[in-house]
Amino acid sequence: MRRGEDTGCCDTELQQKDYQRQRGHVLVRGFNSSLFQTTRPRKEQTKKKKTSPDLFEADRLEKLRSQSRMTSLQMSAQEEMVEKFLDAAARGDLKLLSALLSHTPSLLNQTGYSGWTALMLAARNGHHHVVEKLLSLGCNKLCTNSSSQTAYDIAKFWGHRHVARLLSLTDDGGLRGGTLGPQENYFSRETLDRLSGKRSDAAWLEAKQRDPDTVYLLFSNLSPMATVTKVNGGHGADVKLCRFRYNAVKDLLQKPATTEPDTPDAPVWFAINTDEDAAELLKRCENSSCFFPKSPNRDLLRLDEEEAGVVAQARSVLAWHDRYSFCPTCGSPTSLQEGGHKRTCLNPDCRSLKGVHNTCYPRVDPVVIMLVIHPDGNQCLLGRKSIFPARMFSCLAGFVEPGETIEEAVRREVEEESGVKVGPVQYVSCQPWPMPSSLMIGCHAIATSTDIKVDENEIEDAQWFPRQQVVDSMFRGAQQTLVVPPRQTIAHQLIRHWIGINSNL
Ligand SMILES: [Zn+2]
Repeated sequence: MRRGEDTGCCDTELQQKDYQRQRGHVLVRGFNSSLFQTTRPRKEQTKKKKTSPDLFEADRLEKLRSQSRMTSLQMSAQEEMVEKFLDAAARGDLKLLSALLSHTPSLLNQTGYSGWTALMLAARNGHHHVVEKLLSLGCNKLCTNSSSQTAYDIAKFWGHRHVARLLSLTDDGGLRGGTLGPQENYFSRETLDRLSGKRSDAAWLEAKQRDPDTVYLLFSNLSPMATVTKVNGGHGADVKLCRFRYNAVKDLLQKPATTEPDTPDAPVWFAINTDEDAAELLKRCENSSCFFPKSPNRDLLRLDEEEAGVVAQARSVLAWHDRYSFCPTCGSPTSLQEGGHKRTCLNPDCRSLKGVHNTCYPRVDPVVIMLVIHPDGNQCLLGRKSIFPARMFSCLAGFVEPGETIEEAVRREVEEESGVKVGPVQYVSCQPWPMPSSLMIGCHAIATSTDIKVDENEIEDAQWFPRQQVVDSMFRGAQQTLVVPPRQTIAHQLIRHWIGINSNL
């Protein structure tokens, strides 16, 4: 199939080639308008944050263990075997450790003083081969000791980087070293260049609208047409955006382009929101599994990271157009400009035509979302709204008010919703949330009080949850009492980030 000839979307070849070739190209709005982008290199993950857990406990532990060896005669046979096993791990005696495990496999996750496991002891002393052996046998690396330290925390603190690296590798969704550094949140991957310099070039825009390489996304009631694909490796990206060429959507553009396309060096992307009948729109697609998501909050989370980033921009801009057809200053009609990134009032006397006005440009609404950490460092405050799924608790959140800092918004919202007072606030990461156009500013906040008094107008419940319970829910599927939000949400990432930080900080 030649480019420019296809009239539909959902062609597998087209989808794959487009994505491989076009990472980072244009995105534009249709209806005689547009906005766009070209290739931009992926942001590098920045360095990890250093942790500094207080692990001197380990030395004390070893002294106690030494004393306890002398009194081993008083122990039961079982206790003695556990002691021997833990001691072998601490000394790096792989031969003895393996022999004990082959005789008594149940030793694997046994704990000794202060909840230390063999894995933690091996990590403390940098015994890579022992850690490797224990992991190969399915040892639980998410266990925490009485100070809420995992084996990873311990290895990292004592500078055993090779062991920490081994423990950070995961095939089960467990902790990674990267969780301690800045995260890339869902909806935040920028594969398209916004090309702000081209937005006012009307001739270029028109040419690109007809360009056979240009990609169109089709939205109905702000839902992008998508198609169900095979479930991808269990990480949930089972929905792909449908892509169209100019010929397939030109009737939906209010003003078809008349100029000849120039020679493209980078495909341009446009997004069209139309109120045409959705069922009719779906007929444009050859794939019968196409649909317009009914629930953006749920269905858009099924896209892969790159498409989610495209939708985050497209949907927010389209939603702005949907709500700002008339001038907020004088109520007159507005016209669309700059590739869909500006609306100008058509009333020549309007105040908005003088100077720069935020009513002319797409809105972004700042929202603070915060994980409040108990003064003891080992519990976090989560709340639930009545609309949440059963047993789900999440971070508290709220809009930033005019004249308010991020820190003050965090403190105000937490106290309003839960009655808990907050002291230090630390920014962690942010997430564009295109429902319709929020920027979720993710923070950790340290509580200075612990009594909870829920504002029932805002949330249904709020509770302190121990770190181990959160770990169990997040990584082990132990969801009897607590379900955390899905990985695509910044709330999930804030919780995960906290789990990766040692409580003794
Ligand atoms: Zn006006």
